[in-house]
Amino acid sequence: MNHDVIVIGGGHAGIEASLAAARMGAKTLMITILAEQIGASSCNPAIGGLAKGHLVKEIDALGGEMGLCTDATGLQFRLLNSSKGPAVRGSRAQIDMDRYRIYMRDVCLNTPNLEVKQEIVERLIVEDGEVKGVETQLGNRYLAPKVIIASGTFLNGLIHIGQRTQQAGRQGEFASVSLAENLREMGFEIGRLKTGTCARIAGDSIDFSVMEEQPGDERPIPFSFRTDRENFNPEQMPCWVTYTTEETHRIIESNFHRAPLFSGQIEGVGPRYCPSIEDKIDRFRDRPRHQVFVEPQTREADEFYLNGLSTSLPTDVQEAMIRSISGLEKAKIVRWGYAIEYDFIQPTELYHTLESKKIRGLYWAGQVNGTTGYEEAAAQGLMAGINAVLALRGEEPLILGRDEAYIGVLIDDLVTKGTNEPYRMFTSRAEYRLLLREDNAHLRLAHYGVKLGLLPEKFGKKVAGTKAQIAEALEWLRSHYATPTKEFIAQLEAMGEQRINDKTAWIDLLARIAEPSREKLLELLPEFAKYPDEVIEQILVEAKYYRYIEKQQQQIDRMHEMHTVRIPEDFDYRKVQGLSNEIVEKLEKATPPTLFEASRISGITPAAIEILHVYIKMAQ
Ligand code: FAD
Repeated sequence: MNHDVIVIGGGHAGIEASLAAARMGAKTLMITILAEQIGASSCNPAIGGLAKGHLVKEIDALGGEMGLCTDATGLQFRLLNSSKGPAVRGSRAQIDMDRYRIYMRDVCLNTPNLEVKQEIVERLIVEDGEVKGVETQLGNRYLAPKVIIASGTFLNGLIHIGQRTQQAGRQGEFASVSLAENLREMGFEIGRLKTGTCARIAGDSIDFSVMEEQPGDERPIPFSFRTDRENFNPEQMPCWVTYTTEETHRIIESNFHRAPLFSGQIEGVGPRYCPSIEDKIDRFRDRPRHQVFVEPQTREADEFYLNGLSTSLPTDVQEAMIRSISGLEKAKIVRWGYAIEYDFIQPTELYHTLESKKIRGLYWAGQVNGTTGYEEAAAQGLMAGINAVLALRGEEPLILGRDEAYIGVLIDDLVTKGTNEPYRMFTSRAEYRLLLREDNAHLRLAHYGVKLGLLPEKFGKKVAGTKAQIAEALEWLRSHYATPTKEFIAQLEAMGEQRINDKTAWIDLLARIAEPSREKLLELLPEFAKYPDEVIEQILVEAKYYRYIEKQQQQIDRMHEMHTVRIPEDFDYRKVQGLSNEIVEKLEKATPPTLFEASRISGITPAAIEILHVYIKMAQ
């Protein structure tokens, strides 16, 4: 029964961890409570969105499965913020939650080196501070030098619907109680968080005629860089928009006393930016209405999700409030909304590899680390799987920098700052947004995926070719100039663009173009027709924002340089003005040899590093 890696959980984190480990050649065992729930959507059947789309593209660029599965099972594809700058656009897909599960289960069952078992892990086997395996409720012992915990909301999960509570990991599934106790006994810093979901209703009871239709994009863009974009034309289903009414708000308000969220029944902290409807009515009392998105869950069964109506109110209140919404007057409720409280580990207990600082060989990934969202979970799972195998081989870990990937930002935030509320990714968390775009995720990261053996060499060569063409084109644009001849000025004016008065570098000219497009570029520079669409798209973005991109790159270079600065052994942190006592104490305790090591200490901010840098330079 010996394996190299054991993964506890078949959720979004567990899937990516298991697939990465197995594909890298490690003999891997995924243990999960219900095999048919591998890849289940506990909540909204949707993948991506603002900043989350970035994560999916990065997972894909490293050789993960989420993007491919989304392309294969999506019901609707949209590019959010498409009118805004490329840094903040986000791809989102409504997925068929049934097909998504089947696809993922099938991939897991058919991946060489990966074995799947439906059992419940009750405790870890640990000897001398090192994990050795796990023991399940059937008394089976499975041994492996690396174990990844990806148990989601299941540790001590407690569901709330009105005053009724029930132990469960998710509606209808066992909670993971023994494992939770075992982890507490081991002394991990465990906290409680809360999340919630809405009711699901039967499609034949909805009056769509009074709702706004929200179709998918006419030219949908796939998530995966490996999906054939030219021929990507999935059959799409519409979503629908309706609104809460004064009556909805009255029903909810008059039942606040029955809401577990307000009665003190729920202790865990919930996601601030994804509040329940009762929370929204309480916090935004002046808002006359709230949007509700009515979204299909699956192609085969006519069941809909009410995005925006997450609730843990009692069932009679849920029914009354849903039926007070335009188009839902006759709604038949299939599943009730609920809140769930669960245990999570404070992620400052982990290294950047997601390995526990307490127990060697033990990794943690996903919602159990205090995050929320499928994408955040999958990203961590992938990194935990990769690093577990690299450690097995005695190789250097893969730690992505904040300047390389949103995944780097996510993990760095978690392990250095910790979290007291469910952490989700936002574009504002990334300092170098213009460099970390969705559209260039494969250009940034695919070389890692290829090196790890998670992506084919052929794909790596294709990406390298694209990068070379982009670099060549940008170099040409920097070193060649447009001359303001009469004909050229007339051409610019005919295109509705500003004239130039002096010789202007082509890159500056492109940066001034109001709405850069392939057509405009080729009109000005027909010789660029030799480049494929993907290269042209990158040229347009890189040229438009090149000054800002260069500035961000300089900041990154400065940061890298700063990180190599040595801190003298006798350095007196107490003499540095502007550092809080807490930071001084942490630095005195850790005595980091360089600014880089200092920056990795939990709670040491980039501003503190800047101040230290100035003082060290002054002392030299
Ligand atoms: P999960 O997908 O929860 O998977 C956990 C896996 O671990 C399961 O396969 C389970 O069987 C397995 N497992 C657990 N314990 C054991 C054990 N002892 N032995 C074997 N297997 C075990 N996210 C949002 O972004 N927005 C939301 O609004 C939102 N609402 C949510 C509402 C609810 C009610 C729930 C339950 C989740 C919600 N989520 C939401 C979170 C989203 O579902 C998770 O972020 C995501 O599924 C986490 O993935 P994961 O892989 O970490 O865990």
